[in-house]
Parts: sequence; structure tokens; C-alpha cells
Amino acid sequence: GSADIECDTVVLGSGPGGYTAAFRAADLGQKVVLIERYPSLGGVCLNVGCIPSKAFLHAAKVVTEAEEMSHFGIKMSAPEIDIDALRGWKDKIVKKLTGGVGSLAKVRKVQVVEGTGAFSSANTITVAGKDGNQVIAFKHAIIAAGSSVAQIPGFPYGDPRLIDSTGALELRQIPKTMLVIGGGIIGLEMACVYDALGTKVTVVEFADGLIPAADRDIVKPLQKRIEKRYEAIYLKTKVTKLEARTEGLLATFEGVGADSSAPKEPQLYDMVLTAVGRRPNGKEIAADKAGVIVNERGFIPVDKQQRTNVAHIFAIGDICSDPMLAHKATNEAKVAAEVIAGHKVQFDAMTIPSVAYTDPEIAWMGLTETEAKAQGIAYQKANFPWAASGRALAMGREDGITKLIWDPVTKRLLGAGIVGVNAGELMAETVLAMEMGADLEDLALTVHAHPTLSETSMFAAELGLGIIT
Ligand code: FAD
Repeated sequence: GSADIECDTVVLGSGPGGYTAAFRAADLGQKVVLIERYPSLGGVCLNVGCIPSKAFLHAAKVVTEAEEMSHFGIKMSAPEIDIDALRGWKDKIVKKLTGGVGSLAKVRKVQVVEGTGAFSSANTITVAGKDGNQVIAFKHAIIAAGSSVAQIPGFPYGDPRLIDSTGALELRQIPKTMLVIGGGIIGLEMACVYDALGTKVTVVEFADGLIPAADRDIVKPLQKRIEKRYEAIYLKTKVTKLEARTEGLLATFEGVGADSSAPKEPQLYDMVLTAVGRRPNGKEIAADKAGVIVNERGFIPVDKQQRTNVAHIFAIGDICSDPMLAHKATNEAKVAAEVIAGHKVQFDAMTIPSVAYTDPEIAWMGLTETEAKAQGIAYQKANFPWAASGRALAMGREDGITKLIWDPVTKRLLGAGIVGVNAGELMAETVLAMEMGADLEDLALTVHAHPTLSETSMFAAELGLGIIT
């Protein structure tokens, strides 16, 4: 035909979804082409998402821990922060990982094509690259083109003092004051980094609480801590206007409802970070040329095998559904590649855990108490306070809670929420417990090493069983 390249499976986008799908498909014997518009592979996650944010959050944690050592009788002098070196360290980690993806592609003979891809028919994608167009003919396609940061209409985005998460991770400067618009995971992680580096942070959130998807009791310890550290937190508040002035960015606030804490007067900030969500890239790949349905929000609907309405075209990751998380993308990726290879599999996770890598961390999985109430699901719960954990006390961090939610009849785990140091790591045990259909006795009778934070899951189960009170 007239195609420049012919392959079994083409993967559009090289994020965690795309590269995982491409590698799995190649390992299953397919001839694979991986299309990416940027020279650096790895998508949002590796370049401007999960990984660089965690590098900075680690640095932030060390700084705040050093600061708080004074409570234990150890005084350290204020840290000297060399942001060029800090940024360089982060860039090195990103390079190592994205380079690694490139090497793994080579080893598997996955052909990487650089350029912006769009469907030109149900069996071809045309890639616009530096040296013109290339037509790639495929038998199967996996759409893994991800999502983009959502902007607030009317805000002066040309101004370098107005940044999104990508700009925040460039760490060009440490402003004296910063307004973070959006009290969700990404906004609060970035707030945590800049606070540790010395910025006076203000957070504004439209909803009546931070991280709206998690239970309120699990969010409270984070809120208490950052209320002390940050300049201000405005809930039930929106920023209606943002004006560029020589002295800074001037934000006008408006309360949502009577009990809003919105400031009456406009406030000036050195920098403003918007973190108000991400939108799927479904509308940007000419999906209609292949007959693939894209919904109003830009998602590409799929079935449990990741198949779109067109039988030989699949979609995975941020572009197909919420939650927009890397581990959802990679797990869906394997399913899509295996289905194409003829395996009888489907995406069948009982839960996809969520983690905010703030200080303290907030993690939740399965059913939340809020969801149980809203859906009228019968449940029981136990909250184990870390003030009763020897390990938490020995770390000077008794601000955690481990919460379990279970079925009152079978005592099987339905959900969990953890707030505290390393909550994201601790959550893994409860995810496995739920996947295995474990009940409270399983958790309570499993011997946990002492003294660990992981014991708190066992203690919460013991609380639930009335073994401890
Ligand atoms: P993406 O990673 O978005 O990759 C899509 C790729 O497709 C991109 O490389 C893009 O350039 C390319 N592309 C798009 N359109 C085209 C086209 N037309 N032609 C060619 N190439 C194209 N998730 C977590 O699980 N844990 C975290 O800690 C976490 N932290 C985050 C922190 C931040 C600041 C942000 C922004 C996100 C974070 N996420 C985190 C979310 C995570 O990054 C995404 O869920 C994940 O990257 C989605 O993977 P994906 O493969 O679906 O798409």
C-alpha cells in the first residue's frame, strides 16, 4: 500500500500506558510502532508528573524533618538551597528513566516514531514529524495519548508568574509568596514542595474541603498541619479574576456559599499556580477518521478489554477514563496488549488506590465512608490513631490515622484510608487484602513486625473485632 511503515500494533503516546502496552505487545511477538510527539519518552508521569514531583517532595521532606528535629533537641541551621543543583538532580532522575524507556524499546525492537500522530483512516495513523509526514498502517491500535493540564479561561497565562504543574516542576525560582488554585492532589503536592523551600503558600479550593475524593477524617490531619505552616487556606472560594501587575499577580476572590473563608480584598502574589484538573486528549487525534467515539469531555469510552467502539482499536490510561493515575494506565496497557495477542483477559481490579504524596501522605482505596453513606451500603469502620503506635511516636509523627471499612456481615474489607508518614506504601497491604477477599480476622491474625507503621492496619482490624479497645 501507500504506507511508509506497516506494523501489527501501533501505540499512540509513550506515557506509562503507551510504553507498557508497546513493550507487552512486543514481548508477545507483535511488530510494534510507538509514536511520541516529544523527543523524551515516558509521557507526563516521567517527564512532568509522578517522578519529578516525588523527587522534589523527597527534598521537601528532608528539609522539614531537619527543621522539626529541634523538637527532639537537635538544632540544625537553616538549609542553603541551591535551586539549580536541586533542579539538576531532578532532571538527572527524569533523564535516567526516560532514557531507560528508550533502551527498553530498542531491546524489544519497538520502532519509535517521533512526531504528532492523528488517525487518517481506521487502519492508518499519519505522523507529522520534523522531516514531514509518515503514514503508519496497522492491524491494531492502542490510543495512549493521555491528558493535558486544564487552564482557567481569562487568566494571563502568557505571564511567567502564572504557572501550572509543569511550570512548578521547572523550579525556576522560589517565590516569596504563592497562591495555589486547587486543593486537590497535584496542587497540594506542589504547595508542600514550595512551602518547604521557604515560600509563603496560600491555597484556594472551590469545594468545602481539600482533596474532595477522600474521607474528611483522613484529610483532617493534613489540613491541621498545613493550616499551621501555610499563610492561608480558603475553602468554598473561587478566584474570579487574576490581573498581572508589576508588583505581582492580583487575585480577586469570591465565596461560594455563606461560610466561605474568602478574603474580601484582592490579594497580591509573586506567583500563582493553577492546579484545577486535567482534560483527556481525545479530541486532538482525529479519532473520527477511524470512527472512534470521543465523548464530550474528551474521553474515549472503552469496555473491560480496553476496546473502543471500533473492534481493532483500544484506548488506555488518562485518555479513556478517570482516575487519571499512572498505575491505572500501566495495568490497562497490559490488558490491551494481551487482548490483541488473543489472550482472554479483562481489566478486573477491585480497586485502584489513590495517594496524595503530601506531608502527611493521604491514601485511600476501595469504598470510602462518604461513598458508602451516599450509596446506602451497610458498613462498619475503625479508626486507629497513630498516637497509640510506638513507631509513630518514635518518629515524632503521631498525626496519622489508619481507617478500615468492612462489610458488617462477612467482615470482609471494603475500603481503607490512611493518613500519615508513608501512607502510600502502607496502603498496599490493604489493597492486597481486598483483592484476596480478606476479612478483619485475616488482617488481625497476620503477624506484623514490631514496631512498624504497618502494624496500624492490624491494630485497626483488632479494634474492629473488639480485641483491643
Ligand atoms: P501520558 O503520560 O499523558 O502520556 C501521553 C503521551 O502521549 C505524552 O507523552 C504525549 O506527548 C503523547 N501524545 C499525546 N498526543 C499525541 C499525539 N497526537 N501524537 C504523539 N504523541 C502524543 N499519577 C500517579 O499515579 N502517581 C503520581 O504520583 C502522579 N503524580 C502526578 C503529578 C503531576 C504533576 C501530574 C501532572 C500528574 C501526575 N500523575 C500521577 C498522573 C500521571 O502522570 C498520569 O496518570 C499518567 O501519566 C497517564 O499516563 P498515560 O500513558 O495515559 O498518558
